[in-house]
Amino acid sequence: MDLLLQVVKHLYMVDSESRKFWIYAYLLVLLAVIICNQETTTEIPEEVNNEWLLPLDTGNRRAWSSVIFESDAHFKALRPTWRHRGVRLHTGLDLQNGGHRGTLGGPGEKIYAAATGVVIKISGTLPNKRIVIEHKLADGRTVWSSYLHIAEPQVREGERVTAQTIIARRLNYAELRRYGWAYNHLHFEILKKLPVPRNNHYTWMSQFCYNSGQVDKYFYDPVTFLKERWAEPVGGE
Ligand SMILES: [Zn+2]
Repeated sequence: MDLLLQVVKHLYMVDSESRKFWIYAYLLVLLAVIICNQETTTEIPEEVNNEWLLPLDTGNRRAWSSVIFESDAHFKALRPTWRHRGVRLHTGLDLQNGGHRGTLGGPGEKIYAAATGVVIKISGTLPNKRIVIEHKLADGRTVWSSYLHIAEPQVREGERVTAQTIIARRLNYAELRRYGWAYNHLHFEILKKLPVPRNNHYTWMSQFCYNSGQVDKYFYDPVTFLKERWAEPVGGE
């Protein structure tokens, strides 16, 4: 505000001849500031943070024992294809909160980003709404985490998040009744490659991996990926 007052004062002081020049000069500066700010907000941050945590508040976000897997919830579990013409392989994990089961956890609970990154895509409709976050690893690699069957996103595309950022919630009881029991979980993926979007979906190939090689081409096993990171000191190289 001080700066604005100074500018107004200055414009008042100068003679009417040069006032026009100064108004244009200040407008140019204002335009430059706006353009610079736009560039910094859309830029993917270079900051690297090694802290990777489970996307649910399980009581211990660094322990696989704190989440529950149903029989077909595992990475590469066999799944029917959309049109039931054979099987595909599950490209992520179906997480349920074991730490708070029956109390805080379950339908409607908060979903966290797994690590520091930038939200690059929010797409789909209930019950298949999804958030994709881009992350930079300490070794220079870029990976993406994906959260499917979410509701009420708390973030916007382009927004920077950390492992403490609440990004959405799981479906609540009313939504579960509407869409069926099968969606009472968070489908969580970690991607090696960001595919070309199809129908505005970045992670369409979750439905098109029919063998182990295809899964390995695009996805990390989240269990192994996070376990490796939990062994590292937080923020360390
Ligand atoms: Zn799943």
